[in-house]
Amino acid sequence: MDKPLRVLIIDDSEADALLLQRALSKGGFELDSIRVDNSAAMQSAIAAQCWDVAISDCHMPEFSPEAALAIWKDCGQDQPFIIASGAIGEEEAVALLKSGAHDFVRKDKQARLVPAIERELREARGRQKHRRAEMALRESEEKYRLLFSAESDAIIILDAQTFKVMEVNRAATMLFGYKSEEFVELPAEDIVAEPEIVRVYVEGILEGLVSSVPLVQLKKKDSSLFPAEISAGPFKWKGRRMFVVIIRDISERQRIDRMKDEMLSAVSHEMRTPLTAIIGFVDYMLDSEVDAEQQRKYHGIIAKETRRLKEMIDNLLTLQQLRAGFGRENFQPVAVWPLLHQTVNLFGQVSDKYRILIDCLSDLPPVRGDGDRLQQAVDNLLSNAIKYSPSGGTVTLGARIENGFAIIRVEDEGQGISPEDLDGIFDRFYQINTADEQRMGATGLGLPLVKEIAKAHGGQAWVESTPGKGSRFFLSIPLDSGDTES
Ligand code: ADP
Repeated sequence: MDKPLRVLIIDDSEADALLLQRALSKGGFELDSIRVDNSAAMQSAIAAQCWDVAISDCHMPEFSPEAALAIWKDCGQDQPFIIASGAIGEEEAVALLKSGAHDFVRKDKQARLVPAIERELREARGRQKHRRAEMALRESEEKYRLLFSAESDAIIILDAQTFKVMEVNRAATMLFGYKSEEFVELPAEDIVAEPEIVRVYVEGILEGLVSSVPLVQLKKKDSSLFPAEISAGPFKWKGRRMFVVIIRDISERQRIDRMKDEMLSAVSHEMRTPLTAIIGFVDYMLDSEVDAEQQRKYHGIIAKETRRLKEMIDNLLTLQQLRAGFGRENFQPVAVWPLLHQTVNLFGQVSDKYRILIDCLSDLPPVRGDGDRLQQAVDNLLSNAIKYSPSGGTVTLGARIENGFAIIRVEDEGQGISPEDLDGIFDRFYQINTADEQRMGATGLGLPLVKEIAKAHGGQAWVESTPGKGSRFFLSIPLDSGDTES
């Protein structure tokens, strides 16, 4: 069966082109062919379809084979370009071959044409295969390089003989503080706190006895130490023994574990106080004769302590959620003025012993956040201002805009906070006067929650206070930029 062949013939002579086509058909090709004799026609022929081979005449009045070859190459063609000519000088033929023509065939010896085309097509296929293989190799190298550099764990490749660093990824440079060029050839001793212990492990790794080191102290460029988990594996490269070390910084995990332990012991300690009171009064009432008025009093205490326990648990759960990183994807524009009003309404009817003023423009631009959490933060500040204010005091709830943030302010005329307590009051379970505060049903979790809510929104919480005159608590929350992605 004839082989299909798409041939672009570049020739000014219709008759010569026909002869060529006939020779190729006879040679066993099923032709798809056109003839062109100027650059514009050649360019549009190349643009219109792919060609397996170009066969160009050498002597055309208006088009030279050099120009045709240049167009063939400029269009990215790597297929054979064969010169078919009547008489051609040796120098001219050599020059054309040098500039990229693949072969040269005399028109009066057309028997050579078919084998020449077949050979050139074979070579072109070989070139293409080679190029594809090279490209695949480059892509795969690129892919592994990207994987290596994008990996979030630090990776270091060490020479097993010299124990020096050969290569590192980006995460390693960021973790240790060395630039990659400073890292290369760095002795491994420089990045571990106890090289002897690590060497023992390395020998174990090289012998295939272990593949990980549970906990080591590693050393950064600034000499600070950090705990890490290491896994490693040996391999050979160009006859050299190497091993790849994957390092995971576990300081954050250790911090969270410590935080959980602290939290657990604080919680059990703090919860014991209201529980002891509840159990004490219940037992007392079960064991003793108590009159109706006493009973009401004790029930009141039990109710208050139970509420305190519930508030403590709610606050702790919210704190945990916030620390676990809570969903910014659910943030919405939150209008400030209604937020302040809604919070005041929650308190408005509770007591008439204080006055609440709102100092905020009604058209303040919205902030971006979680409306419920923000209300919880303002609510905590307002309830503190009321709790720690004298009868008849004024509490002001205000907001203003500053540098892309809404600054919410809760101001009271209460007892104030001494300078030595100012730093601590945003810490968990911090209470200034424990006896008084427990009497008021305080939990010591309100302000830590305000601080976490501010942080989770990309803002801050802070306080200014003058003892005896009052306190001003602030909460800064970024304004809504209208960018829903952030
Ligand atoms: P709680 O009020 O439940 O004890 P917080 O975390 O809200 O817990 O507050 C911590 C401590 O900070 C309070 O116990 C109190 O001593 C002090 N504090 C908070 N707000 C005020 C305020 N507006 N005026 C004076 N002291 C305050």
